[in-house]
Amino acid sequence: MHNYEAPADLLKDRVILVTGAGDGIGKAAAITYARYGATVILLGRTLQKLEEVYDQIESANYPQPAIIPLNLESAVDKEYEDVSVQIESEFGRLDGLLHNAALLGPRTPIEHYDAESWNKVMKVNLTAPFLLTKAMIPLLRNSQNASIIYTSSSVGRKGRAYWGGYAISKFGVEGLMQVVADELDDSENAIRANSINPGATRTNMRAHAYPAENPNNNPAPEEIMPLYLYLMGADSVGVSGQAFDAQPK
Ligand code: NAP
Repeated sequence: MHNYEAPADLLKDRVILVTGAGDGIGKAAAITYARYGATVILLGRTLQKLEEVYDQIESANYPQPAIIPLNLESAVDKEYEDVSVQIESEFGRLDGLLHNAALLGPRTPIEHYDAESWNKVMKVNLTAPFLLTKAMIPLLRNSQNASIIYTSSSVGRKGRAYWGGYAISKFGVEGLMQVVADELDDSENAIRANSINPGATRTNMRAHAYPAENPNNNPAPEEIMPLYLYLMGADSVGVSGQAFDAQPK
């Protein structure tokens, strides 16, 4: 699906929530989804970045987006319920959910990995997608053919030295995706759930993880969007519980 060519109206009238929509891959996904017709709900922790994405979408004359500021590191149950109430009252349903936000955390051996960092990484990368999924399921049920995409990593499929909590959180994300996919497959308006490993992509997170690397050797987030479109749009109806790679291996 790296070469998937989406029809121009693929996401027309769809309401899609993207976490970490202010930067990197999440920003590219939000703008891309809007370009293909979606009303995008931009969720993230830095309001200024979300506003910049909002302005970019508006000035391109794509459907007017919405902004939900939320820090996934500190958010509690009640705040997720508030998000649900807000989306329910504004849109009445949710057609797509891209769990994209994540924290890299320290790149260090488990022997030296501090517990505070572990808890932060787990909170943002794994607990937040769990709580958001839980809060959004009733709204996703109000949609025909809703799609949930979880963001994984190659180190979430095969463990690698020094990737610590980040790698382990991504293993958890793959598990969450499989459990959710299995549970929601039989529901009346089947909700599909899949995971994407973006592969090496030119973002701040990649630059932090690989400081010695030439960023220009990696594709920009905009270049890995075909799979993000395929899994969000109607061409992937019936595809669920699968782990995908956004770039050829
Ligand atoms: P990025 O450039 O660091 O962007 C991460 C986004 O997540 C930012 O918008 C950030 O917000 C947001 N975020 C972080 N902590 C948050 C919190 N506590 N609450 C709300 N939002 C928060 O990273 P990226 O490279 O685009 O990564 C996107 C996804 O792809 C992640 O799940 C990552 O694990 C995965 N991934 C990336 C690569 C790669 O090569 N880039 C490879 C494999 C997997 P701020 O801008 O406000 O900090």
